[in-house]
Amino acid sequence: STQIQLAARPVGWPTAADFRTVHVDLPDLAPGEIRVANEFVSVDPYMRGRMNDVKSYSPPYALDETMTGGAVGRVVATAADGVAVGDVVVHQYGWRDLVQAPAEGFRVVPELPGVPLSAYLGVLGMTALTAYVGLLDIAGMQPGDTVFVSGAAGAVGSMVGQIARLKGAGRVVGSAGTPEKVALLTSKYGFDAAFNYKDGDIAGQLALAAPDGIDVYFDNVGGEHLEAALGAFKDGGRAALCGAISNYNTTEASAGPRNMSNIVTRGLTLKGFTVGNYLQHFGAFSAEMSGWLTSGAVVFDETVVDGIDNAVEAFLGLMRGENTGKMVVRTVA
Ligand code: NDP
Repeated sequence: STQIQLAARPVGWPTAADFRTVHVDLPDLAPGEIRVANEFVSVDPYMRGRMNDVKSYSPPYALDETMTGGAVGRVVATAADGVAVGDVVVHQYGWRDLVQAPAEGFRVVPELPGVPLSAYLGVLGMTALTAYVGLLDIAGMQPGDTVFVSGAAGAVGSMVGQIARLKGAGRVVGSAGTPEKVALLTSKYGFDAAFNYKDGDIAGQLALAAPDGIDVYFDNVGGEHLEAALGAFKDGGRAALCGAISNYNTTEASAGPRNMSNIVTRGLTLKGFTVGNYLQHFGAFSAEMSGWLTSGAVVFDETVVDGIDNAVEAFLGLMRGENTGKMVVRTVA
């Protein structure tokens, strides 16, 4: 099994030297174990936080241990009742091509016609659940609301925009970091307006895109985006604080928004969340999202990087914005 380990705690932007690749011989299966050949491994922004040795909602990665995280693969050998060779399983064993462990650590999922297995890491998995919970439960989006989402062409953001439209948002506005992504937001994902935050003046661009103000802000980015949203809110506006990727590789704490007083004067509600605390919504999410996928009401993109040896590059590419939709590593076992 080829596995990627964290070798050192990155300071600022991670580099290849912070990781190492190891080759592990797998022992014979013990009773109750299965062996899985991964097909897709997830790289996610939250992993950057886990590379630091700080207390957070998920514990830090241990040095010299294989990077854990979402992955999907196929059973190639089994010593467990109820799991057959060929079954597709989702698990959290992360950055490796082959994984062997007790069957309890895996969830068997159906293979859906026309849907790649990588969908279980994105549109049918954690990132789309995050969008669903954050928009509907945390921000409490109502029909007619004007919704603004940052990081809008990413795995979470592209789902937020589409779910908002399907749930009757009045206007959906997104921001992203390249002209191609901005074009995709309106041409493919059904956003009403979109802008490139790298063109600068985020507050000004948001005011043009949502001239009557916003009711809901789904924050993937933090920093200047959050300040712009605070400036654009109508009275009673609500934000779901999902992530702050603009700060993940900085070495100094970023300044807070300078217009926090708007929270008081406009009666705003800002609520943070981590999806792991809302897994009770997975059933409702799955049912609704499968329907939308099958009917074509929701579309999705993925950026696929080949080879487990390129997992670090894929992760860094995600942080640099090289992905459209979900970033995944395709594993050739
Ligand atoms: P994405 O697919 O959105 O990939 C990350 C994207 O972030 C990049 O493609 C890039 O797009 C954008 N980005 C990078 N740097 C910056 C920057 N300085 N300013 C603005 N945008 C930037 O990742 P996910 O959809 O998986 O995650 C999106 C957010 O949601 C992250 O903040 C993540 O931590 C958070 N998250 C939170 C969860 C929770 O439970 N609270 C669960 C899952 C994700 P671009 O080209 O547009 O810059």
